[in-house]
Amino acid sequence: MRITVFHNSNAKSVHVAANLAAKLRQQGFSVVKDNPDIVITVGGDGTLLSAFHEYAHMLDKVRFVGVHTGHLGFYTDWRDYELDELVESLRHDDNQKISYPLLDVGVRYADDNSTVHYLALNEATLKRFPATMVTDVYISDELFESFRGDGLCVSTPTGSTAYNKSVGGAVLNPQLEAIQLAEIASINNRVFRTLGSAIVISKDEWIDVYPEPRAMDYEMTVDRFAPKQRPIKAIRYRIAKERISFARYRHMHFWNRVEDAFIGEKQH
Ligand code: NAD
Repeated sequence: MRITVFHNSNAKSVHVAANLAAKLRQQGFSVVKDNPDIVITVGGDGTLLSAFHEYAHMLDKVRFVGVHTGHLGFYTDWRDYELDELVESLRHDDNQKISYPLLDVGVRYADDNSTVHYLALNEATLKRFPATMVTDVYISDELFESFRGDGLCVSTPTGSTAYNKSVGGAVLNPQLEAIQLAEIASINNRVFRTLGSAIVISKDEWIDVYPEPRAMDYEMTVDRFAPKQRPIKAIRYRIAKERISFARYRHMHFWNRVEDAFIGEKQH
C-alpha cells in the first residue's frame, strides 16, 4: 500500500509525521508523495483541507485519514499518541471507507465568459467589501430572492460545523446528500427582504447567484483558499459528482463529535 504523510509546518506536526513515516516503513509500507492509496494528514482540520485540495484530482482512488496534534477535529479521528494503533489498523486494512458529499462551484467569469469549476470540502463563500453585496438567488432556475448583505456561504454537510455554523446555519449529519445556503448579515427592512434563515437543498437541485455589478470587489473563498479575484457573472452551486472517502478504522458517532466540540461538559 502506498501512503502519503501530509503535515503542516508546526514543529509538533513535523515531528509526529517523521515518527509516523518511520513506523510505516518499518511495517513495509511505501511512504510516497505521488499517487497514494491513503493520505494521512498530521495537524488539524485545516491540514486535511489542504491535503484534500492537493489530491482532489484522484478522489476516486485515494482515502484520507486525519491525525490531530491538538484536540480531536471534525476530519481527524486519531490523536498523535495513537500512531501504533493507526499503523496496526493500516496493516489490517481491507479497503473499508466512508464517503461524504462535496460542493461543486461553477463560476462563470465576466471578463472572458469562461466557466471554472472548484471543489469544496467545507464551503464556498461570496462576499463583497466594503460595499453591499447584491445578487439574485435562483433555486433550480426559479427566482427565490434578491439578496443584499455581506455575503453568502454555501456548505457541504461535513462543512456545516465550520463557517456555516458561525453564520447561523444548521448542523447536518454528513450522511445526508445535501448542500446548505446560509446568509452572512443580510439586510432586511421594508424595502429589502430575504428569507433570513439558512436553507438546505436536495441533490437534484442547484443554486445560481448573479452578483451585481460584475465588479472586482467580490471575494470568493473555497475552503481555506481564495481564487484570484476576477469579475463574476454567475455562480452555480450543486452537489459534486465526486465524493471524499475516509479510511474508516473506527467509528465515532457524529453527534458525539458535535457535542464534544461545541458543548463539552454537560451540566445535570
Ligand atoms: P482556521 O485555522 O482559522 O480554522 C478555523 C477553525 O475551523 C479551526 O478550529 C478548525 O478546526 C475549524 N474547522 C475547519 N473545518 C471544520 C469543520 N468541517 N467542522 C468544524 N470545524 C472546522 O482556518 P483553516 O484551518 O484554514 O480552516 C479553514 C476553514 O475555516 C474554512 O473552511 C471555514 O470553514 C473556517 N472559517 C470559519 C470562519 C468563521 O467561523 N467565522 C471564518 C473563516 C473561516
